[in-house]
Amino acid sequence: MARFWTDCFCWDLEDEGVDAAIGRIKGDLFADEICVLAHSDDVVQRRARDFGGARTIRHEAGAHFRPSASHYSATRIRPIPTGWMKSRDPFSRIAKACDSIGVGLAVRASCLRNAALVHKHPMIACVDAFGDASRNRLCPANPDVREFVVALAADLAESYPARRVELADVTFDSSRYARGSALGLDLKGAAQSFQDWCFCPACRQRALDHGCHVEAAHAAVRQWLDRAFERGATGRLDEVNSAIERALRDDADIRSYQEARRSSEASLIAAVHARLGDKLAIPVNDDAELAGVGPSATELGFALVARYKMTPSTSPVPRAVRALGGPEDVAVRFDAYPPYIDGGPALVAAVHETIEAGHLNVGFYADGVLPAPCLDWIRQAIRYARREG
Ligand SMILES: [Zn+2]
Repeated sequence: MARFWTDCFCWDLEDEGVDAAIGRIKGDLFADEICVLAHSDDVVQRRARDFGGARTIRHEAGAHFRPSASHYSATRIRPIPTGWMKSRDPFSRIAKACDSIGVGLAVRASCLRNAALVHKHPMIACVDAFGDASRNRLCPANPDVREFVVALAADLAESYPARRVELADVTFDSSRYARGSALGLDLKGAAQSFQDWCFCPACRQRALDHGCHVEAAHAAVRQWLDRAFERGATGRLDEVNSAIERALRDDADIRSYQEARRSSEASLIAAVHARLGDKLAIPVNDDAELAGVGPSATELGFALVARYKMTPSTSPVPRAVRALGGPEDVAVRFDAYPPYIDGGPALVAAVHETIEAGHLNVGFYADGVLPAPCLDWIRQAIRYARREG
C-alpha cells in the first residue's frame, strides 16, 4: 500500500498552529506523513494562503532546528541556527504532535548549499575554473565540510523520531531547479556542468592523489568554458556541448579529474549512509544530480526521491528506477501547482500512474506554497489512489 506525504515548512506549521496544521494534513489531505525542512540556504516563500502571519516569508540560510551540540564536538563547522529559531524549538513540538496525531515525520536538509556557512568559513567554498569562489556552495571534497555533513545527518536522524532523513545537495552539481540563474548568457548542458567544477585546494589535492594532471585538466575546462561562451553567442552551443561530452570520455586529464570528483561525492555519501542506514534518502531533481548520486544508490541501496516532470523524457524518475533496479525504492515528488501540474485531473492521473508503476511513496511539494485549489487536487489524488489500491 502506497504512503503519501506533504512537504512542510516549520514556520508555516507554527503560524497555523502545529496541532491544527498536522491534524488538517491528516484529516483533510489524507496524507500519512509530513516531511519538514530542517536546514537550508536562504529561503523566500510566497504564501498563497493565509497562515496568520506574513505572506512573504524570508529566512536566511541556516538550521531551522535546534542542533544538538554533542554531534559537533569534533567538527570545525557547526550549523548556524537562523534568526527565526532563536527562542524556539519547533521540531520537538512537531515530533510530539506527529506522534499524538498519528502522522509520520520525515526531515529534509540541504547539505552543500548554504550562504551563511560560506560567509562564516570562506575556505569551504567551491572555486570555479576561473578562480571565483561560490557565495553559497560548500565543497564536498573539503575535509571540514565532510565531517560537518555526516554530523548534521546524524544529528537529524538521532535527535528526532524521523522515519526518513532526506539529504539534498550532496553533490557538486546541485540541481538547476534549486538555484537562480545569474545575469548574462546562460550556458546549458555539459558546458553548464563545467561551470560547477570545483578547483579548490581540496579538490586539486584529491585529483592529484587520483593520479590526475591537475593543471592540464584545469586549463582544458577553462578553455571549454571560454569556447562555450563564444559559440553560445552565435547559437552553436550544441556543438561545444557534444565536443565536451567527447572530451569527458577521451581526454585523460578531464576524465581523471571527473573520476576524482565522483569519488569525493561517493565517499561522502557512503560515510553518511554508514551512520544513517535505511533512514537515508537522497532527492534527485535532474540528470546531473542523478549522475552524481545514482551509482552510490545502486551500490548501497538507499532510497531516491525523484522529482516528477510531466514529460517523461525530462523526468529523472524512469532513470532513477533503472539505477535502483525497481520502483520500490524510488519515492516520487510532485510539485503540485502550475506550471508543473496544471489541474486536479492531471495530478490525479499522474499519481495514479505512479502508483500503478509500483512506487510506494508519493509526496507533494509543498503545503506552505499551495493555493487552496491545489490542496484539493492533492486530496483527490490521494483518495483516488487509495480507492484504486
Ligand atoms: Zn573543491
